Amino acid sequence: MATQNINRVSSVNREGSMKKKVTGSIIAILFFVGIMGVSTNRLEAVSDNTIRVYNVVGQGVGTLLKGLIQGKVKSFKSAAKMLFWGSVSGYGFYESKKMIGNGSVTPGVILANISASISENVSGGEGPLDYLGYTLGPARITVATPFAGKGKTIFNVQVSPMDILNFANAMKYADKVSFRNGLISFEASEPLTPSSRGWAIGIYPTVVNGVPEHVFNHEAIHAVQYIQTMTVSPQPLSRLIHKDSSAKKWFSISLLNFNYVSILNGLTLNDKSPSHDIWNEVEAYALAKE
Ligand SMILES: [Zn+2]
Repeated sequence: MATQNINRVSSVNREGSMKKKVTGSIIAILFFVGIMGVSTNRLEAVSDNTIRVYNVVGQGVGTLLKGLIQGKVKSFKSAAKMLFWGSVSGYGFYESKKMIGNGSVTPGVILANISASISENVSGGEGPLDYLGYTLGPARITVATPFAGKGKTIFNVQVSPMDILNFANAMKYADKVSFRNGLISFEASEPLTPSSRGWAIGIYPTVVNGVPEHVFNHEAIHAVQYIQTMTVSPQPLSRLIHKDSSAKKWFSISLLNFNYVSILNGLTLNDKSPSHDIWNEVEAYALAKE
């Protein structure tokens, strides 16, 4: 009995010190990335390479942070897995935005959704390809793949209430809504401000009638940025209400998903008054070729 207790105590200690080690290393990584971020804070003209590095590192760290906040980091291995697959997802997002900027909008939007799936899956403690998702306006629909294994919910819908409101808002400034290149898009006859030719409200790109194609590409890049920030936004409200259940279900819906990262950065309305010195504009102007 006594030996058993000692064994238990030492295993608890081991777990405790393991946790400390994991947390310590993660803080060190974040500190390092923070320094990198500060030193490259001057956002004038940036190269493709800089944009790629930002996406890879940013998405990798964002995925790990979300996993940490949601309590899915159990060991060094799971932290490394999130960092690695999060970085792969970030590379996918970079390629996706580059494709859109070059006019291949539909394939770019599809790649963005696959990249989003990878990041969401690993930060939720799943395998990178366990679920594939698609964001359609306020709803993100994900479907379990054969990689997910048995006992997983097949169809999952995550609703973003703000994007229901954003839809109404986008409608207010536009005359026409259509499904264009995989995105719910709007067309307006009047600009939002005298200098604007297009804008994006959350997930919805809008262009003024008759503007060149690259304006739509630019706004579609903002829509992808929005999908990207959504993937690294932890969802405490959603988790509070929808407790994990081990019962096998076909369908699940969560209604309180918010794009906290985007809200905190004030990036839910792009291009009302064009500004070139914030990251999402630097990226969109660099990638959407005129
Ligand atoms: Zn813009």
